[in-house]
Amino acid sequence: MSQQQEEKTLIIIKPDAIQRSLFGEILGRFERKGLKIIGMKMMRIEDVVIEEHYEHLKDKPFFQTLKNYMQSSPVVVMALSGVNAISATRLIVGPTKGYEADAGSIRGDLSLSGQSNLVHASDGPETAEKEIKRFFEEKELFDYKKPDYKLVYSEDYF
Ligand code: UDP
Ligand code: MG
Repeated sequence: MSQQQEEKTLIIIKPDAIQRSLFGEILGRFERKGLKIIGMKMMRIEDVVIEEHYEHLKDKPFFQTLKNYMQSSPVVVMALSGVNAISATRLIVGPTKGYEADAGSIRGDLSLSGQSNLVHASDGPETAEKEIKRFFEEKELFDYKKPDYKLVYSEDYF
């Protein structure tokens, strides 16, 4: 069995999700999985923040359209926690291009685009840590327990 560890990850519900009224649908998928929301807020992403967040893509020909897209409406940023939350969340989101993503994933079920793909999710532990710091101050992150914790995680609860 692969190792299990508690992790935190950063999600952005992107402008197309807000514009298409898919926020509740997408949030519900993370919630139903058992991930815990430890931070959440709506914002417009500023130039410098996008440039930093998508630094790895700054030389790509689509960078300007990506920036325009990410600034076309407010987004909702969320920090989620849970066992193996980073990889579990990427599986729920699906691969980058909606038209290639498996049915069952958010992008596979709800997106046909390689750019307007509804959600951002951190891709590894180092990025997750940096990205959570990019969007949240310490005081905006909440440490709390939920009564469903044992039901979600325990392998010998019943
Ligand atoms: N993107 C794009 N064209 C591409 C690849 C990426 O417009 O050919 C956009 C898309 O919105 C994607 C984001 O840039 O989600 C970040 O790209 P990355 O490769 O990090 O994909 P992700 O981690 O979001 O799957
Ligand atoms: Mg990425």
